Amino acid sequence: MQRRADQGWVEVISGPMFSGKSEELIRKVTRYNLARVPTQIFKPAIDIRYAVGEVVSHSRLSIAAEPVEDSMTLLKSVEDRTVVVGIDEGQFFDNGLVDVVTRLAAAGKKVIVAGLDMDYLGRPFEPIPSLMLKAEYVTRTLAVCHRCGGPGLFTQRVVESDELVVLGATDTYEARCRRCYDPTEAQQGRLDLESVSE
Ligand code: ADP
Ligand code: MG
Ligand code: ZN
Repeated sequence: MQRRADQGWVEVISGPMFSGKSEELIRKVTRYNLARVPTQIFKPAIDIRYAVGEVVSHSRLSIAAEPVEDSMTLLKSVEDRTVVVGIDEGQFFDNGLVDVVTRLAAAGKKVIVAGLDMDYLGRPFEPIPSLMLKAEYVTRTLAVCHRCGGPGLFTQRVVESDELVVLGATDTYEARCRRCYDPTEAQQGRLDLESVSE
């Protein structure tokens, strides 16, 4: 039988943008670092908004992170001695991340994944929803609605684009509550402009 301390598990931190997912990931991994438990943090290579080799929160907390191309590269980059594996921006990984995280937990790793659970249209943003089902622990973080101060559950894109992934922060997205969230808002801006130019 495995010793208790060898037991792996999966934790997911999910919510909209600005809800403190990266902050919470940084806080949790830092605790293990302070106790000299070997950790590694990964992020998708696509996310180079602030820094290539770091996870940086909107409140400017940061921690070293290894950019990886996909879930299989992540799996291969985890060292034997590593006990805690942190993953930020999990929604930018392929669906293979679910299997990779499951394998890491089976191998005794404590895996903490942060990521968006909904896209800007309020649809499930895989692989985070699937990961939540396979996780022992799920923390769902809320932001403050940029419009009214209510519970920010949604990520509203405030510029007009049909792309699923538009990287950006404060000028591109806002956290919105149930009442203020309107995925058609940026499109309405475009329609207004079109009618003005006619
Ligand atoms: P996430 O990773 O979920 O996008 P971060 O951990 O990067 O969030 O940033 C959280 C921080 O963002 C907060 O502690 C706060 O300083 C800042 N922030 C900016 N706008 C908001 C907002 N509308 N609601 C909550 N926090 C916000
Ligand atoms: Mg983040
Ligand atoms: Zn609101």
